[in-house]
Amino acid sequence: MRLILLGPPGAGKGTQAKKLMDRHAIQQLSTGDMLRAAVRDETPVGLRAKDIMIRGDLVPDDVVVAIVEDRIQHDDCSNGFILDGFPRTVAQAEALEDMLHRHGLDLDAVVELRVDEAALAERVEKRAAESGGAARPDDTADALRYRLKVYRDQTAPLIDHYRKTGKLRTVDGMQEIDAVSDEIQRILDEARSERATS
Ligand code: AMP
Repeated sequence: MRLILLGPPGAGKGTQAKKLMDRHAIQQLSTGDMLRAAVRDETPVGLRAKDIMIRGDLVPDDVVVAIVEDRIQHDDCSNGFILDGFPRTVAQAEALEDMLHRHGLDLDAVVELRVDEAALAERVEKRAAESGGAARPDDTADALRYRLKVYRDQTAPLIDHYRKTGKLRTVDGMQEIDAVSDEIQRILDEARSERATS
């Protein structure tokens, strides 16, 4: 099972990815988590990414694509993975298609968590207040607002991109966490049965 979770910051991608990971024994691949680990360990990638991440801008495509390509080849991904926060640009989506093709893999679904922008701004500000800036340097209200803009400008075009492939499924991300995960589950069951009959 291989899927993409698409949605703006605060939409609940990480929460849903963790639930899916427990349920299906597949890996959550969060490029944000991987980049934060690189920053913490002061690797060359981390040193390159640090300031970009604090600003809320996107790390260059070639950097994240290389990280993901390396990661999907680990044994713990053989059962599948959930891409959380990747791809974030059309160029990344194209690189992903190419990489999956080269590794003989396919995507089962792209799940968009759709959330109301106004409610999201509120959620995002709450998260910033709760973290007190301590957990993530890019979780201040200003940085989060900027990341929402980056999402709209650079990542939202992926929705159309995946609609054209026929793989896009949209879930109302404003529902309770369990209702969202039940809906994602239904989508995955459908994708699985479609695959079995094709
Ligand atoms: P996230 O935890 O997914 O919100 O990501 C935190 C930050 O990491 C983002 O604001 C970007 O600076 C960087 N980042 C994460 N994933 C990507 C990606 N796929 N492409 C570019 N930058 C990314």
